[in-house]
Amino acid sequence: MKAAVIGAGWAGLAASVALREAGAKVTVFEAGHTPGGRARRVFTGGFDAPLDNGQHLLCGAYRRTLAVMRRVGRNPDALLMRRPLRLASLDGRFRLSAPRLPAPLHLAAAALGARGLSWNERLSMLRLMRGLKRMGWAAPREWTVAQLMQYHAQPEGLVRQVWEPICLAALNTPVAAASAALFAHVLRDSLAGKREHSDLLLPCTDLSALWPDAAARQVTMRYGSTVRQLRPSADGIDINQERFDAAVLAIQPAHAARLLAGPLREAGAEGLLAALKSFEYQPIATLNLRLSAPWRLPEPMMMLREDHARGHLGQWVFDRAQILGDAKAGELAVVVSAAAGIAETQRPQVIEALADQVAEQASAHPARLPPMPEPSAAELFIEKRATFAAVPGLSRPLNTTPWPTLALAGDWTDTGYPGVLEGAVASGLQAARVLNPRAQAPQP
Ligand SMILES: Cc1cc2nc3c(=O)[nH]c(=O)nc-3n(C[C@H](O)[C@H](O)[C@H](O)COP(=O)(O)OP(=O)(O)OC[C@H]3O[C@@H](n4cnc5c(N)ncnc54)[C@H](O)[C@@H]3O)c2cc1C
Repeated sequence: MKAAVIGAGWAGLAASVALREAGAKVTVFEAGHTPGGRARRVFTGGFDAPLDNGQHLLCGAYRRTLAVMRRVGRNPDALLMRRPLRLASLDGRFRLSAPRLPAPLHLAAAALGARGLSWNERLSMLRLMRGLKRMGWAAPREWTVAQLMQYHAQPEGLVRQVWEPICLAALNTPVAAASAALFAHVLRDSLAGKREHSDLLLPCTDLSALWPDAAARQVTMRYGSTVRQLRPSADGIDINQERFDAAVLAIQPAHAARLLAGPLREAGAEGLLAALKSFEYQPIATLNLRLSAPWRLPEPMMMLREDHARGHLGQWVFDRAQILGDAKAGELAVVVSAAAGIAETQRPQVIEALADQVAEQASAHPARLPPMPEPSAAELFIEKRATFAAVPGLSRPLNTTPWPTLALAGDWTDTGYPGVLEGAVASGLQAARVLNPRAQAPQP
């Protein structure tokens, strides 16, 4: 089979891996110049190693992603720093840490031993997990996370300290707007599964080097090659006037809608076209700071306390020097999810306020950290369409289309996940299977 994949993000590349393994000759069209899409390497001055377009975090439940890494010869155990679930605030006031006990004891012990929560909040946390389990991890489709919290009588302090940060990190959507059903799935897969599923996995290389580079080496890559014409039919597909037997379209839904508008209307598939157009998006900002001297955080990843009035919008800070194993450096990444408040024009103020947030909260840590050294370089990435807004009632397309020669992939397809890497990879594997049933099935 002569197959094409359009888009070299994690979805498109996962599809290319599965199609190649099933014997197809695969060509990947990518508008950009680096494999990885929204999770890719970026070169920039002032930093020794390449950066990423945004700090990413994986978890032990990302089984398909870890399996795909192995399938292209990459070793997740060497390339990802694996840590048991531990949420700790940089100011030292909050800590939740899962001991190495079998599930679900690890979670019970984490909740009951949490620092900075009242007894009522600790027990409420376990009550929500029990309540969701009783509901079969299926919250009503039209509920927001805020409604779910209200229904399970979750105290405000617990929502602010635990559920909101998890919701923002996983769904990139504030609790008042986020889908309760997707949130429940995230909790089921990460916190309620086996203990190791809740492990946090931190990339020790740039995101393209994790596995997209290796996947790209196995196929024919056409970088800087934007697909502008797509004509699917029952027995083949024309891409920029070149004929293929079949293709996976693995680009963002708004772009897919533009490419497919004509063919979908002709096929009478107005519903799919409307679904592709119906997504809204949420931004994520990542501030990379290079410090003028080495500086260690107590943990590789720590929570920040937000104070919007002062521009302290960061939710997490990552000690990149520690994660990358560079003891002689000081390098941080500060993450702002659902970053609608950050506008391009305020860059210098945003950088200053986020650096100030980290320095101030570190100075409150009980371990008496040395003061944060002055930044020597700063790079602020704002991904305006980082993920789709994970709101209730979304109608997400399947991987199939009206044509047997065209499959859809992307984190936005109906994966059961919010816009995350594991969803992207799962969708790519599923799309490959739509085109060729011999392509290995995604693991459950
Ligand atoms: C800043 C940031 C932080 C994130 N943090 C996390 C995290 O911590 N954990 C997590 O699991 N997920 C996270 N995500 C989400 C994760 O990155 C995405 O879910 C995932 O990368 C989506 O992959 P994809 O293949 O579906 O889409 P994309 O990565 O968007 O891939 C689409 C590709 O298609 C290309 N393309 C578009 N149009 C065309 C065309 N016409 N012709 C050819 N090529 C085209 C694009 O250039 C792109 O490379 C984050 C995302 C961002 C932006």
